[in-house]
Amino acid sequence: MSQTPEDFRKSISTVDSEGKRVWVYPRKPKGRYHNWRTIVAIILLAFLVGTPFIKMNGQPLLLFNILERRFIIFGATFWPQDFYLLALAFVTGIVGIILFTVVYGRIFCGWVCPQTIFMEMVFRKIEYLIEGDFNKQKALDKMPWNSEKLFKKGLKHFIFFALAFGISNIFLAYIIGVDELYTIITDPPEKHIVGLVAILVFSGVFYWIFTWFREQVCIIACPYGRLQGAMLDKNSLVVAYDYIRGEIRGKFRKKEVRTEGDCIDCHQCVQVCPTGIDIRNGTQLECINCTACMDACDSIMDRVGFDRGLIRYASEDGIAKREPFKWTPRVISYTVVLFGLVALLSSLIATRSDIETTMLQARGNLYRKTEAGIRNHYTITLINKTVEEIPAELKLENVEKGTIEIVGGDLTVPRQGKVSRTVIIIIPRESLSGMITQLNIGVYNSASGERISTEKVKFLGPQSRK
Ligand code: SF4
Ligand code: SF4
Repeated sequence: MSQTPEDFRKSISTVDSEGKRVWVYPRKPKGRYHNWRTIVAIILLAFLVGTPFIKMNGQPLLLFNILERRFIIFGATFWPQDFYLLALAFVTGIVGIILFTVVYGRIFCGWVCPQTIFMEMVFRKIEYLIEGDFNKQKALDKMPWNSEKLFKKGLKHFIFFALAFGISNIFLAYIIGVDELYTIITDPPEKHIVGLVAILVFSGVFYWIFTWFREQVCIIACPYGRLQGAMLDKNSLVVAYDYIRGEIRGKFRKKEVRTEGDCIDCHQCVQVCPTGIDIRNGTQLECINCTACMDACDSIMDRVGFDRGLIRYASEDGIAKREPFKWTPRVISYTVVLFGLVALLSSLIATRSDIETTMLQARGNLYRKTEAGIRNHYTITLINKTVEEIPAELKLENVEKGTIEIVGGDLTVPRQGKVSRTVIIIIPRESLSGMITQLNIGVYNSASGERISTEKVKFLGPQSRK
């Protein structure tokens, strides 16, 4: 069968014609974009590692405790009752990412994604340090198992597993908090078997990803990567080869008048690619926008005396028609939806109450006749989302006579905690309006006198008022 220029799209770069994995040995990247990415990676890694240790009002800055269904985001606690906010924040985030991708392509993958940062900026750098650049790594892999190979591979895998162990501890700290993690680490192992097994399983998964699975995460596993084809259009900014300027390719020959394009077919852009593609074929699913090929090509352009930017951030239309960025109807509509969602989310967060109150009739509640009147049972739950302890009290708002008794302690709600109590309400018969009387119960902060909420409950009584 004859080959066509689009044949490379029929398979991915890391799988051969027999379906076997093609191991990628990328050349060590260097250049101005790589330097900028290194700075960004250091800042993001410092944030990721440092955040679990930062506390605000005695609470972690960020906590995603899915076990207790309690989330803390920049000091604000979110309970299951606030999940509609988290769901809305999630939808806003997805629309934001889609909008960002439509305009800026996969910049997130190259600059911010934790997978790329850990793989390219941590694990790969350690690999270069121990095993050398791509050609030395290839030679080492082909070498028989002698003392040099044993030492280098052993050292690399030991450091990789130690790092994976560290990463899994950091992620666990985001789930259970550093204090709980410290307890697991320092207590005798038999007291936290489940926690320790979880840490080891996560460490094994991270070790496997960064040692073996690597770029396959971006190519076949990551849903964001898989959706690129649907999100990118001809105006999206991507890492692109300027084929108008670069073609026809031809070797560089000193002192000869050049009749070909600016691409000297040196393959440096291909050698540095961590996903093993040739960006000169056009935008591809595998490209994570890591900028390594831009740096590699710029250094070649400098060497041969041509302008930089043969491979650069540009849109497909920008290259084909020499057009600047355009606001397409898709970008405008995503922007409108995004702003709408952000406004809705902000107003819901701003109006979120600090105390969540739920008052319900106690299970199996039937009225009882007493000397003082008719008695009904309720349960009340107060959730305090603030970092201050709140003493609360209840008042009958729409019935003049009657008493409220709290059973099982007072109604003081601990900071970022909750309290549940049984409430007994007794109302004289003559104050009831029938078999069912609607009661308005005011929930007050007894320290400040401020009303927290008004709970509406049904009070059951006999048919006759006598
Ligand atoms: S084509 Fe360039 S930007 Fe894309 S992954 Fe390869 S080296 Fe990185
Ligand atoms: S690095 Fe630049 S000049 Fe060399 S092959 Fe790639 S595009 Fe062509």
